[in-house]
Amino acid sequence: MKTATGTTIVSNGQLFDGTGAPPVSDAALVIENGRIHYAGPAVGAPAMPAEARRIDARGGTIMPGLVEAHYHATYFNIEKLEDLDIKYPVEYVSLLASVNCKLALECGYTAARSGGCLFNCDVWLKKALEEDLIPGPRLVASGREICSAGGLMDWNPDFRKIGMDGLVFCINGVEDARKAVRALVKDGVEWVKTYPTGDAAWPDQNDHHTLCMTFEEMHAVVATAHNHKLKVTGHCRATEGIKNALRAGYDSIEHATFIDDEGLELLLKRDVPVVPGLYFEQASVVRGKEFGLPQRVIEGHQETLEGGAASYRKILKAGGRIGMGGDYGFGWNPHGDYAKELSFFVKYVGFSPLDTLKCATKTGAEIMGRSADLGTLESGKLADVLVVDGDVVKNIALLEDRQNILAVLQGGVLKAGRLATKEFAH
Ligand SMILES: [Zn+2]
Repeated sequence: MKTATGTTIVSNGQLFDGTGAPPVSDAALVIENGRIHYAGPAVGAPAMPAEARRIDARGGTIMPGLVEAHYHATYFNIEKLEDLDIKYPVEYVSLLASVNCKLALECGYTAARSGGCLFNCDVWLKKALEEDLIPGPRLVASGREICSAGGLMDWNPDFRKIGMDGLVFCINGVEDARKAVRALVKDGVEWVKTYPTGDAAWPDQNDHHTLCMTFEEMHAVVATAHNHKLKVTGHCRATEGIKNALRAGYDSIEHATFIDDEGLELLLKRDVPVVPGLYFEQASVVRGKEFGLPQRVIEGHQETLEGGAASYRKILKAGGRIGMGGDYGFGWNPHGDYAKELSFFVKYVGFSPLDTLKCATKTGAEIMGRSADLGTLESGKLADVLVVDGDVVKNIALLEDRQNILAVLQGGVLKAGRLATKEFAH
């Protein structure tokens, strides 16, 4: 992804730098050749050359670009399980995915870690993004997911004789587990996404308290992935499934819904980050009926919502790391709604706006493995910056409406926001 040349100064706003430090009022951000040169009070900013480009924050907020830590570029208005993999051919899925990436950038998301994708779309999407062929977040690619046979993602009945090849490897035992990871190594993914547990979506055989993969399978995934320098994450709701994943050496935990004290201890011991995806549960409860979700499924989502909220409060209080990402791409939780996760954590879970913003920037970059370049506005890092009209710390919900976004910069290049639209209009 190309970086800007020359000097840009963003001023006339408060600065939230992503480190969790209190915001600096009347701040300036100086960008040199796509990297941050200065971030702090305007009075301390270095002298600007006459040709420096200026971005007026209009009294709003200057902050790091947001990181979506559980992003499904290839999901699009999913309403039924089948919509996940057999609704469209891969040709159309890749086009939809590029449209989703553009939208994410317009919403202020300058980076994203995938939570799994169809076929091998992520790896090629990442290439197109890196080569500036399409606009979108800097992407950390995942690939087809791994689940046990008969587990949560193995829903196509055998009589259909179509398998689950586009979306998941359905494994039976450690040999299958290794084989699946090796295929992903060849595909070129960076994160391996697995399904250690079930979900409220399948209340009969694979509910949120059911284990899908065995410890041995999970351990085989981790050993093979780590050998090839890949990281491993997993959809973990059930208490024992979370602990199995942590003991097997997982690098992050998706959801960690029903974590107990022993699980928390294991989590903190290796400082493993958690990505809740909690607003998805709220959306499933509130809008489930409209989309024909059975009452039992909605009740399961309600239990997941409450259990999850209690767990995330506990994890944050104990000093654990949480990334903000939200399983967007379902009919009731569509792409574009990404920032609803953030306001929901403030309003419902009780996180402070500063904690939430830090989770959505700094921690997200750490989960991506890109904290040397991304996540905070500090000297030397890439200038992936968001300029928002208004005080985001006072009203985090401003981020929900992309009309409030003045500028989205990647490597100092103005890519989206009201100022970019205006610029292109000239
Ligand atoms: Zn997901």
